[in-house]
Amino acid sequence: MMILSKTDYLHFLHCAKSLWLSKHKPEEYPKKTISTYEDKLALEGYEVQRLVQDFLLKTPEAGIFSFEKIFTTDEGLYAQADIISKNNDGTVNIYEVKSAGNIDKTHLIDATFQMITIENSGLKVNAVYIVHLNKEYVRTGSLEVDKMMSFSLVTEQVQGLMEETADNIKSALEFLNKKEIDETSCSCLLLSKSHHCETFDYFNPRVPKPSIYNLPRLHKNKILTFTKEDRLSLEEIDEDEVSPNQLNVLKAAKSNSPVINQDIIRKFYEQVEYPVHFLDYETFSSAIPMVEGMKPHAHIPFQFSIHIKKDEDSAELEHYQYLAEEAELPLTLIESMEKVINDKGSVVSWHKSFENTRNKEMALLYPDKADFLNSVTERTIDLEDIFKAGYIDIAFGGSTSIKKVLPILVPELTYDSMTVANGTDAMEAFSKIIEWEDNTEKTKLKEDMLAYCKLDTFAMVKIYEKMKDISQKSQ
Ligand code: SF4
Repeated sequence: MMILSKTDYLHFLHCAKSLWLSKHKPEEYPKKTISTYEDKLALEGYEVQRLVQDFLLKTPEAGIFSFEKIFTTDEGLYAQADIISKNNDGTVNIYEVKSAGNIDKTHLIDATFQMITIENSGLKVNAVYIVHLNKEYVRTGSLEVDKMMSFSLVTEQVQGLMEETADNIKSALEFLNKKEIDETSCSCLLLSKSHHCETFDYFNPRVPKPSIYNLPRLHKNKILTFTKEDRLSLEEIDEDEVSPNQLNVLKAAKSNSPVINQDIIRKFYEQVEYPVHFLDYETFSSAIPMVEGMKPHAHIPFQFSIHIKKDEDSAELEHYQYLAEEAELPLTLIESMEKVINDKGSVVSWHKSFENTRNKEMALLYPDKADFLNSVTERTIDLEDIFKAGYIDIAFGGSTSIKKVLPILVPELTYDSMTVANGTDAMEAFSKIIEWEDNTEKTKLKEDMLAYCKLDTFAMVKIYEKMKDISQKSQ
């Protein structure tokens, strides 16, 4: 008999075949490497759960609560309830703890699965709560768990989902207990890449790489036509069958060389004013506010790197950086930026909405710095834009991330072998340096963090210069 947990059930709702493969042929199921970000989210979940437990255990009713209790049923359901409390009439209340700031549909489905499992195991549930973060909470001094967490009663919503969930659970168990399923294809063959999961290749081994699924925003009618005619390779697609954006990708794939739109690249450089500041922030966010003045899940910049190119012809660069020594609101970071960012000149970021949102949040936090931060935002242009339509290379794998673009355009610069090699690593490293005593390991980690952020902005400089050369070549 197969076991169905809450996680399995959510997996089933997303895709029955994928769940079946994970249970029946785990050796074929793509090994999922848990990213440091997922690890961080899981740890935060435990931390929130622990805080709620500690809080409840200090209340006068502490004796009625039990934590992480396991329930199983004869048909194979499995639930570990975050918290349950006993009522005088023999019923129980269940509490699902979430480190999110809102209740969403998945949380309700989750809670319904738990309620059905607990009831089928023989208990009667009287009330269901979702315990989640109050996103309006602002930390003042030490954490006040009663203010930071909201206990939302969701019994009615859960009851509304009971019938549908019970039917789905039945279907899930039936499907899971099948000895065999059709493994020769799956329904995502008719859907765009954004729907595909990591088992797409297993169920569809005849789809080549690259394939029609690499064409951006491919309409499902076109997918239907191409698959019906068994034309999955880009080689079999004609140029008049695709949109202008898709055409760039098609041409790049067929020629195996970049497709360059000089007009788009030139327009990017026409808006540039010197001195040009290449700016990158690293931020930390934690479910539980770490310092006074912080809300749950706020993104607080703790580090920046800025390379400045003073004028068009100068190869000389200035570099400035800041790395906070402790968990803090970003006043010192802003003051450090004020010292080095000129009143005039463009600011170049990669995926500027991230930097601009942080500027907006910091301006709300420090109204007297709003003029400076708004001026930085107004002058910010996005180097990533070039790679949306101006320079398409199939080697970027359909991505416009700097981590994909850099190794192709500037292979001599690399993030490989860096201890801190992405934003999540930086966040994790920061959480260590604010905890650790001063020692050589901490000094080394700080150096690694500075090196990573510096490489991010230096990489932008190099890509900027390379694209500028390309834009000038045909003039
Ligand atoms: S690719 Fe789509 S249909 Fe195929 S297994 Fe994954 S989610 Fe299911």
